[in-house]
Amino acid sequence: MEYHSPVSLQDAVDLLNDGDAKIVAGATDFFPGLERGRAPERLLDVSRVSEMRGISVSEAGWRIGGATTWSEILEFPFPPAFAGLKAAAREVGSVQIQNAGTVGGNLCNASPAADGVPPLLTLEAVVETVSASGSRLVPLEEFIVGVRSVNLEPDEICAAIHVPGRIRDGRGSFLKLGARRYLVISISMVAVLVHVAPNGAVSEARISVGACSPVAKRMTELEAAVVGLSAEELESDFPSDPKFLDPLAPLDDIRASAVHRMQATTELCRRAVIEAVNLADGNNA
Ligand SMILES: Cc1cc2nc3c(=O)[nH]c(=O)nc-3n(C[C@H](O)[C@H](O)[C@H](O)COP(=O)(O)OP(=O)(O)OC[C@H]3O[C@@H](n4cnc5c(N)ncnc54)[C@H](O)[C@@H]3O)c2cc1C
Repeated sequence: MEYHSPVSLQDAVDLLNDGDAKIVAGATDFFPGLERGRAPERLLDVSRVSEMRGISVSEAGWRIGGATTWSEILEFPFPPAFAGLKAAAREVGSVQIQNAGTVGGNLCNASPAADGVPPLLTLEAVVETVSASGSRLVPLEEFIVGVRSVNLEPDEICAAIHVPGRIRDGRGSFLKLGARRYLVISISMVAVLVHVAPNGAVSEARISVGACSPVAKRMTELEAAVVGLSAEELESDFPSDPKFLDPLAPLDDIRASAVHRMQATTELCRRAVIEAVNLADGNNA
């Protein structure tokens, strides 16, 4: 097997352009997925590519390198809008997995239960892909197109994830239900980003649900229904009409029944919205 570990994006793109290579970053999804240990002929390890590591901030927003690890997400001084992404980072496997596993790997693996996807949907993330012929910006909603299927050509690398500055005054949250507390694949998970008006009412809301459909989804009708409500109103009278979760199509599987997933999701939405609204301003997530 040929193994390449370039340190520049240009070298990574050139190596990918030279022929069929399998990209890996932390390899925490790649190795368990190998069929009986059969390795590909060419492996392109992007974990040392400098342009794909770390997080930068500008007026336009945040740029998270595709090979940024979950531990690096946890260490970065994000504003409260990223509290959901940080909470998801804490849930990705164990500390060892968070040290190696990357944000780009989580998105490109496109598991319906990928913990990074719902919070990045609420953050209106855009994926930057790079190939020898140029770059593209693809909204996350259009990047993951199905189970294990992404909008990425064979010669493209997920170089970065961009989060627009307009979300900067929001407050985020993320809740995950599994069959046990740690090291668990989600039965359902909910990420929320709210903006709160000076009178304490929700002025904008973004709510997304993962593990209950082939691809995590925004619940736009529920988002509209929580706008205008205060924390007290959300506590006493959370909008719980089942039609708000119509975009979901949960599976009956070994982890949970479809009915249980729907019931749990309704309650997770309620708790996650209230948690986000109550998140103090200036909290460093
Ligand atoms: C024990 C264990 C527990 C886990 N628990 C969780 C969990 O709780 N929640 C969760 O969401 N995940 C979990 N995972 C899955 C995994 O750790 C995460 O999805 C992680 O973020 C994957 O990142 P990676 O860098 O290791 O990806 P890799 O394994 O390196 O790659 C995954 C896929 O993405 C492609 N890829 C990677 N980077 C790029 C790139 N920059 N451009 C283009 N393609 C790319 C690869 O070709 C491959 O197909 C767990 C894994 C293990 C082994």
